[in-house]
Amino acid sequence: MSGVVIIGAGHGGSQLAISLRDEGYDGAITLIDAEGELPYHKPPLSKTFLKQSDARPMPLRPASAYDDREIERIAGRASHVDIVGRKVALESGQRLSYEHMVLATGSRNRSFAAWPKASNVFSLRSLADAYALRAAMMETRRVVIVGGGFIGLELAASLRSTGRDVVVLEAADRVLKRVAAAEISAAVEAVLEEMNVEILSNTQIINVDCREGRVIGIETNRGRVTSDLVVVGIGADAEVRLAHSPSLATDNGILVDPALRTTSPGVWAIGDVANVMSRENGTRLRIESVQNATDQARHVARCIATSRVEPYQSIPWFWSDIGPAKLQIAGLSSGSTERIVRDEPGRLAVYHLRGADLVAVETINNPAEHVLARRLLAASAKPTAEQIRQGPQVLRMLIDI
Ligand SMILES: Cc1cc2nc3c(=O)[nH]c(=O)nc-3n(C[C@H](O)[C@H](O)[C@H](O)COP(=O)(O)OP(=O)(O)OC[C@H]3O[C@@H](n4cnc5c(N)ncnc54)[C@H](O)[C@@H]3O)c2cc1C
Repeated sequence: MSGVVIIGAGHGGSQLAISLRDEGYDGAITLIDAEGELPYHKPPLSKTFLKQSDARPMPLRPASAYDDREIERIAGRASHVDIVGRKVALESGQRLSYEHMVLATGSRNRSFAAWPKASNVFSLRSLADAYALRAAMMETRRVVIVGGGFIGLELAASLRSTGRDVVVLEAADRVLKRVAAAEISAAVEAVLEEMNVEILSNTQIINVDCREGRVIGIETNRGRVTSDLVVVGIGADAEVRLAHSPSLATDNGILVDPALRTTSPGVWAIGDVANVMSRENGTRLRIESVQNATDQARHVARCIATSRVEPYQSIPWFWSDIGPAKLQIAGLSSGSTERIVRDEPGRLAVYHLRGADLVAVETINNPAEHVLARRLLAASAKPTAEQIRQGPQVLRMLIDI
């Protein structure tokens, strides 16, 4: 049996290949890459990439980083995994055997299955999507973005800054409702409105007006919205199509234990595709972020290289750049019972407590406090509401910095 086969060469897969070697793993490492690109940074695609017609993808690391570590990169899509025989088949017909397989296949954008096929409807997940969107933008005045989540709002700000008229349709009563506190949503909405992005919340789509293969208008409960180009940003599902094997359990992602092992020996899952069992309370969590994918990659690399299997532990953190608003989140706010808001000129911090425990901190344009929040969370500090209101100077004393 030969080495580690990694399926998916995004943030998680690329990091895993590098970390395996750096942790001393001396077997074969094969990275299967459906996109056929040198693995690249995804976040700029919705931020800087669309703003400059000549922007190039930013590689995560140079080709030499893989070559120097004798990591074999195969451009192609894995089409089937044989868990019992420990083999991966590629669409090209190539077959690889493995001792360990790591599924790092990321996620897939949701779409509206009932919409007619139209040449001016886009979504953004990959570099190919970004190139297609950028090319289509050239002849576009008015963009409708369906979905006020992170990617939809980043795109709204980017496209607006290139002079397009932008309308965001959001079904909920505020943007970012699923992921951020109401104060953060309000601040982000204010930033976008300042940029003259139109945000229509509480908006349900009733019908799509498609003529000659193009969507020219969207009927909503708030009236008709015309469009030259539509971007659908309504979230993503785990890319589990390869995991359809009786021995790999899935449910909103590939189910993994606290060490990131799937239900099948020698098979691991990391990043967007992994739905992780919490060691503490038995609940499950699937996170879509760069930090999650890269930290999980480092963890699995260590487990494989050292043959010591330990639970994965990390404080999740995330960022999103929405025009001039730099939003950063440390920890997880789900189940929080109290929030304390510090609203200062030009910046904002929202602390979430669950009982006496600090569980998450959301900030806007406040990177120093974000870093402090990560340290407080890592130290399991228990600031009181009063200490939080007093600000970073007092909070720093809780962890002696
Ligand atoms: C436009 C955009 C902006 C983002 N901005 C941010 C941000 O600001 N901050 C943040 O924290 N996160 C951001 N994210 C999310 C972040 O990029 C993902 O959470 C992260 O990339 C997940 O890493 P991953 O390795 O799990 O998956 P990915 O990086 O998505 O990589 C998965 C790879 O697997 C490949 N693959 C899938 N199936 C197969 C197969 N069968 N065979 C071979 N290869 C396969 C895919 O083509 C893909 O290249 C953004 C995502 C997008 C799309």
